[in-house]
Amino acid sequence: MELIEIVYLDNAATARMTDVAFNAMLPYLTDGYGNPSAIYSVGRDAKHALENSRRLIANSINAQPEEIYFTSGGTESDNWAIKSAVELNISKGSHIITSPIEHPAVLNTLKHLEKRGCAVTYLSVDKYGQISLDELSRSIRNDTILITVMTANNEIGTILPISEVGAIAKEKGILFHTDAVQAVGHIHIDVAALNADMLSLSSHKLGGAKGVGALYAKNGLRLTPLLHGGGQERAGRSGTENVAGIVSFAAALDNVLPRLPLINLSKRRDKLIHEILKIPRSHLTGDPVNRLPGIASFVFEAVEGESMLLLLDQLGICASSGSACSSGSLDPSHVLLATGLSHEAAHGSLRLSLSEETTDDDINYVIEKLPEVVAKLRQMSPLWHE
Ligand code: PLP
Repeated sequence: MELIEIVYLDNAATARMTDVAFNAMLPYLTDGYGNPSAIYSVGRDAKHALENSRRLIANSINAQPEEIYFTSGGTESDNWAIKSAVELNISKGSHIITSPIEHPAVLNTLKHLEKRGCAVTYLSVDKYGQISLDELSRSIRNDTILITVMTANNEIGTILPISEVGAIAKEKGILFHTDAVQAVGHIHIDVAALNADMLSLSSHKLGGAKGVGALYAKNGLRLTPLLHGGGQERAGRSGTENVAGIVSFAAALDNVLPRLPLINLSKRRDKLIHEILKIPRSHLTGDPVNRLPGIASFVFEAVEGESMLLLLDQLGICASSGSACSSGSLDPSHVLLATGLSHEAAHGSLRLSLSEETTDDDINYVIEKLPEVVAKLRQMSPLWHE
């Protein structure tokens, strides 16, 4: 059997841990195993590593260390932020505004809250996945307690105008949360400039360990305790901290900061987009200008996304159609439908997401192979007419 080297273009689903992150975490899996709550030296060393990581992560988004709460990832941070906002503002109201292209970690949390009496307004988005700030302003009611709009979309790469959203929320005295899971470590994030009250981060999207994330919550903002127990994370999330994972998260983020906004990645992404759009009846999804440096996303007419993934896999190319969470289901992506694509068009989607480890050879290989895959599937498709 011919061994095919993997061309990994699914970094928005998860990225390989960077060597820097791996080397940083290793000592805390072996000799540095202490519990950070313990007072003896091994414990103190772990505590020091934990607090140093908190400081690095805070610095990277222009926050204070005490504004960072470690969690198990983006999903938990989103849940915690939104549920906290609702619980703490119950006397004020229960109306929330969001976008229809949020990750399921936000959308399904909101669905859960709707069943418990919250009202949610889903803003519309245009064909690029951009919200309208006018519509946002018009949607604000007296009982609006939270605006949650993602920083950048995981499927189509669109970067949303969240500093403007933050300014509107601030002016109206409404809490603003943003899911920045795909943005942190890829573009500059400054919580002060964004007027964000809460912001979700995840380690494995930027080259740290899986199962680790953080929630930024602005000083003075109370969070309802997520987990009750020994009082870790300022009594917000009890449980012994994942020190090694957290150290890898901070190391990966700190390491990438000087290179943001990853111009080299954008150049490779643009080459990929330019060449792939030469395939007849292929279309870019997402915003052509305001997009994450690592995400190239497309729809191909008369091609079925899942079949495309299988053929690409046989060629050693790992890609995605829709988000990792929704692939495996045959429903078309809620994000693509919200941007106005038909079910049929949305079924032909492909996301190629790059990391700094993606090489020119990787890109060239995909540029060579993808047109063949699309042509092969179209030959078999009853929907395809030259
Ligand atoms: N939010 C966005 C935008 C994401 O892309 C993801 C991961 O796919 C998440 C939240 C969930 O993050 P995690 O896998 O760390 O729970």
